[in-house]
Amino acid sequence: LPTTRQPDAVTEAICGYCATGCSLKLHLKNGEAINLSADSEYPVNIGMACPKGWEALSPLEADDRATRPLIRNSSGELSPASWDEALKYFVRTFKDIGEQYGTDSLAWLSTGQIPSEEMAYLGALCKFGIGMIHGDGNTRQCMATSVAAYKESFGFDAPPYTYADFEESDVIILTGSNLCITHPIMWQRVMRNKRNPKIIVIDPRRTETAMAATQHLPLQPKSDLVLFYGIARLLIEHNWVDQAYVDANVKGYQALKQFLLEGPYDLPTVARCSGLEETDLFDLARTIGSGRRVSLWWTMGVNQSYEGTRVAQSIINIALLTGNIGKPGTGANSITGQCNAMGSRLFSNSTNLLGGHLFTNETHRIKVANTLGIPVDVIPDQNSWAYDQIIDGIEAGKIKALWVVATNGAHSWIHQNRFRKIRKKLDCLVVQDMYHTTETAEIADLVLPAAGWGEKEGTFINSERRIGRIRKVRRAPGEALADFHIFQLIAHYWGCGDLFKEWKTPEDVFKILTRLSKGQPCDISGIENYAMIEKAGGIQWPLRDIKDYARERRLFEDGKFHHADQRARLVFEAPRTMPEAPDNEYPFMLLTGRGTSSQWHTQTRTGKSAVLKKLYPQGVYLELNPSDAEKLKVKADDTVTIESRRGRITAKAYLTGSVSPGQVFLPMHYAMVNQLTHNSVDSYSRQPSYKACAVNVFSAKQN
Ligand code: SF4
Repeated sequence: LPTTRQPDAVTEAICGYCATGCSLKLHLKNGEAINLSADSEYPVNIGMACPKGWEALSPLEADDRATRPLIRNSSGELSPASWDEALKYFVRTFKDIGEQYGTDSLAWLSTGQIPSEEMAYLGALCKFGIGMIHGDGNTRQCMATSVAAYKESFGFDAPPYTYADFEESDVIILTGSNLCITHPIMWQRVMRNKRNPKIIVIDPRRTETAMAATQHLPLQPKSDLVLFYGIARLLIEHNWVDQAYVDANVKGYQALKQFLLEGPYDLPTVARCSGLEETDLFDLARTIGSGRRVSLWWTMGVNQSYEGTRVAQSIINIALLTGNIGKPGTGANSITGQCNAMGSRLFSNSTNLLGGHLFTNETHRIKVANTLGIPVDVIPDQNSWAYDQIIDGIEAGKIKALWVVATNGAHSWIHQNRFRKIRKKLDCLVVQDMYHTTETAEIADLVLPAAGWGEKEGTFINSERRIGRIRKVRRAPGEALADFHIFQLIAHYWGCGDLFKEWKTPEDVFKILTRLSKGQPCDISGIENYAMIEKAGGIQWPLRDIKDYARERRLFEDGKFHHADQRARLVFEAPRTMPEAPDNEYPFMLLTGRGTSSQWHTQTRTGKSAVLKKLYPQGVYLELNPSDAEKLKVKADDTVTIESRRGRITAKAYLTGSVSPGQVFLPMHYAMVNQLTHNSVDSYSRQPSYKACAVNVFSAKQN
C-alpha cells in the first residue's frame, strides 16, 4: 500500500452476512476501515473468509446509500426531508392510524441482519412504547421451522452443536443444505476433519456439496419426511436404536415405534416414494445405526417446507434414537441463515418476549417489567401475528401501517405479485434501510436512512450460539443513523422515551438482555460486558458464570433436556399432501435457493460489489435438465418462460444434470423469482414453503 493508505490500527468485527459468524480484522486509518482480512485467531473461521466477507466494506460505499430521509410528496415522488420532518411524519401518521383503527392495525417487519441490541430496542419500542401487537422478522423465512421443532422436541429453541462437531464426526449427513455455497466456512470446517468422515448429502439437486460428498441421495422433492420415518423404522427393526439412551433421556418411543411399524414406512414404500434405491436406504440406516459419531445437519431444504417442522423433528428423532447428541461429532443440528438469526430467535422481542420469556406467561411478564423498571400493563399479553399473518392482515384491511426495518419483502416474500398488490391497502409504509433503492424502499411512503454493518456497535449470535461483537469502523454517509439511534429518536418523538432511560448505548441494552436471560436456558448473565466477549473470542450461550467458559461448548452432554421432566420428545405426524404438486398444466417442480457463495439474499448489499458481481451471472438463469430441454426444444442460453399459477418470468436456460428431469431450479437472488413461489406455510412455524411449487417451462420463442 502507498504510505498514505497504510493502516495505523486494527480491530475485529463479526461479518454481517451469514450465520457462520466469521471474525474479520478491520484495518483502520484515522479510525476508518480501509481494508480487511480474515481473523486467524477467532475460533470460528480460523483465518478464513468467503468472498462476501472479503468484500464486506465495498457495499458501504455504494452510490445509492440512503443519506437523507425521504417522504413521498403529493406528486407521488420520494423527496428529501429533514430528520425532524421525517420523525414527525412517522409519529403523526402512526398515531392517527392507531387512534382510528387501534394499535393492532400497526405492524413492523424486521430482520436477522441487525444486532441483538437493536432488535430488542425495536421490539420494546413497538410493544411497550407504541403499544403495537404485531411484528415479526424476516427470520420467519429461514429458521422458524427449526425453532418450532427444537421447542417441541427439546423444550427450548436450543441448537446443540459447536462447529468443532464438523471436525469430530465420523458420519456427516447434510439434508437440504448446500453447505459449500451457503456456509462456505462451515464447509471448510468439514474439510478440516481428519477422521476421514463419510459425508452424505440428501438433496433433490446435485449441488456443489453433493458433488463433493462421499454419497449423494437425490430424493424426490418433499419426500424427506417419509425418508426419515423409513430410516427410523429400519433402526428399530434392526436393533440399531441406542435403547439405554432412549430409556434414560427420551419420551415417546413406544408411540413412535407403533406409528412407524403400522404406517407406510416399510423399505419398498419409502424407496418408491423417495425415488431412492432400497439398498441405499438400508445402507444409510446401517451407517447411522452403527456409526460412533454421527451428526445430522439441515438448512433451508428442510426448513422452507409446508411440513418443515415435522421434517426437522424426524431428523431430531434419528439423533435421539441413536444417542447421537451431546457428544463430540454428533447432534441434530439446524444451521441458521442470517448473521444474527440466533439473536432474533432469543432477543428480538417479536413473537416472544426478551430473553426467551413468553408473552402469554404472567410470571414472565412480571419479571420482564421488574427487570426493565416498566409497568407490567405496557407489556402485551398476546403473541404477535407471524409474517404471513401480517401480510394476510394487510389484505384483510386490518393492518393499515407497516414499518419495515432492514429487510426487502417486496423481493423476498412468497407470491411477490400479491405482496406488491396489497401494498396499496396500506395507509402508510415506512422503510428503514441502508439503501433507498431496494424493491421495498421504492414503494414506501417514508424512507429512514440507516447505517449498515461496520457503521455501528452491537453483538450478533451465530449458528453455534456464539455471541460476537460488531463495531463501528466508519461513519455512516450523509445523515444516515444507526438503527439504534433511530429507535431512540422515535421513542423521544412518540413521547415514550422515559421507558428507555437506561437504554442509552448498545452495551447498556446488552447488559439488560443478560439480566433478562437469567434463569432461562439461554442464560447469559455470566457475561458482564462487551470486553468479556472480545477477550474470550466470542462466547456461546448459555453462560451463567464466566468460570464455566470454554471455547467449544455443546448442549445436552448430561442428557438433560429443557422439558420439565428433562427428557426430549420424539415427535411425529403423518405426512401431508403437497400444497401444489406438478400436474399436466404445470408439470415441473420448481426449486429455489442460493445460487452462489458470492451473493446474499436479495443482493441488496452484495449487488453493490463489482468483485462479487463478476463471480456471478448478472441475469436470472434457470437450471434445466438436458433431457427436458430436448423435449422443450430449448438450447443452452435460450430464453425460456417459466410460469406458475401466480406469475410468469423469463430466464436464460442453463442446461445441467444438477437438476433431475421434471425439476427446475431458480436462484433466489433475482427479484422476479418470487413471482412464481407458492403462498403456503408450515402450519407450526408459519415458515413459507419456498422449495416446491408447480411451474411450466417453455421456450420464450413459443410465447
Ligand atoms: Fe461472512 Fe458467512 Fe462468508 Fe463467514 S462464511 S465470511 S460469516 S458470509
